[in-house]
Amino acid sequence: MLDVEDKSLLTLRGNRMMRERATCSGCGKHSGLDDLVHNALYAGIHGKAFMLDVLVHGPKADSPGHEITCSGCGFVHDGLFLWIPSLPW
Ligand SMILES: [Zn+2]
Repeated sequence: MLDVEDKSLLTLRGNRMMRERATCSGCGKHSGLDDLVHNALYAGIHGKAFMLDVLVHGPKADSPGHEITCSGCGFVHDGLFLWIPSLPW
């Protein structure tokens, strides 16, 4: 989807959201990072370079909540999703 040639670049294995994964009312698909990425590209909000940077380096500190559209069927989930940046220990 992001045309990533070097898969080892993506070390992200999971992320914390402020809410449980939502289940799409349209097709039953669980929302996830793939939807987030799909959304950003689909809506033209972020370019591939930006999303790649987020996936590699984590979300921006001031990342706002996002409305998520299901990448499976286009159904818009209720409410906003906020990806909480992981804090340095
Ligand atoms: Zn769906």
